[in-house]
Amino acid sequence: MLQITRTLTSHPKQKPEGKLGFGKIFTDHMFIMDYSEEKGWHDARIVPYGEISLSPACMVFHYGQEMFEGMKAYRAPDGRILLFRPDKNIERMNNTNTRMCIPHVDPADALQAICEIVKTDADWIPTEPGTSLYIRPFIIATDPFLGVHPSKTYKFIIILSPSGSYYAAGLAPVKICVEDEYVRAVKGGTGFAKVGGNYAASLIGQENAEKKGYAQVLWLDGIEHRYVDEVGAMNVFFVIGDKVVTPKLEGNILPGVTRDSVILYLRAKGYDVEERRITIDEVYEAGRTGELKEMFGTGTAAVISPVGLLDWHGRKLEINNNEIGPISHMLYEGITGIQFGNAADGFGWTYEIK
Ligand SMILES: *Cc1c(COP(=O)(O)O)cnc(C)c1O
Repeated sequence: MLQITRTLTSHPKQKPEGKLGFGKIFTDHMFIMDYSEEKGWHDARIVPYGEISLSPACMVFHYGQEMFEGMKAYRAPDGRILLFRPDKNIERMNNTNTRMCIPHVDPADALQAICEIVKTDADWIPTEPGTSLYIRPFIIATDPFLGVHPSKTYKFIIILSPSGSYYAAGLAPVKICVEDEYVRAVKGGTGFAKVGGNYAASLIGQENAEKKGYAQVLWLDGIEHRYVDEVGAMNVFFVIGDKVVTPKLEGNILPGVTRDSVILYLRAKGYDVEERRITIDEVYEAGRTGELKEMFGTGTAAVISPVGLLDWHGRKLEINNNEIGPISHMLYEGITGIQFGNAADGFGWTYEIK
């Protein structure tokens, strides 16, 4: 058990009204815990949300030694506060830590920290349909040292942000641009780890795509530029004939909790799900023959994001007439139903914060 000290704010903020959007509003408190070689993780505390003071020499600013996670707390209709498979996020957090030479956090301590900060700011969990409290745990390297070496000190911080329904106007398909100049990750790199550096390297592709009117980028593999990896911050699925196909986890793709849940959900419903390599040519060929029924992205933010159009260096491929397909729809309803506590959870995925 972590001993968490608590300093509550004397100036609670006004709760937001109207549309929440994503990631711009933060709650009244945050969780912080420090790491040193002598003490391990220590000084766990909940304090008023606010600025933190760091040396400009901190390693995180120069060599990017850091990691993050993303999950949500949901307010069920009966008032319970639910997390969705938090053990998966915590397991992934420590896998990322291993890759980034960051010390592990005891999984029970991490879960306790998440629960305590969410409980502290429980009245910030929005209740409008589709809204939730986004949870952002992260770890930064804090040694004030310019040598290239793993830091000996760290901070583990959790901040919370009430977030709006991703689909205010319903589940709308997005247009995606296939990136074939830049790459996001290669096997042996950090593609499977949730680290800021992956995002820093992806910004240029994302910017170019947005300039051309696309919502996100579909990344191809870093070596042959043939195999589909993933979309921006989402894993990707294709419905081809009567099979559902998603790229296999081979070290370059982020192992999404939503990805895993979609695979388990589909298999429980009797669908044939293949985790394998899939080339962009195969996708376009299936589009040409009419076998490509649906394409969708999966991630905590949007849950299911149908893709209505692909553009691969000017070759446009419309998918399912730019409409939401039946499998995308079923998955969105099924998984959000479990997350929000509206549907029975036959998988044991929900975790109630008490
Ligand atoms: C976080 C993330 C995902 C989605 O993972 P979830 O656990 O489903 O939210 C997919 N791709 C990348 C690059 C990510 O950072």
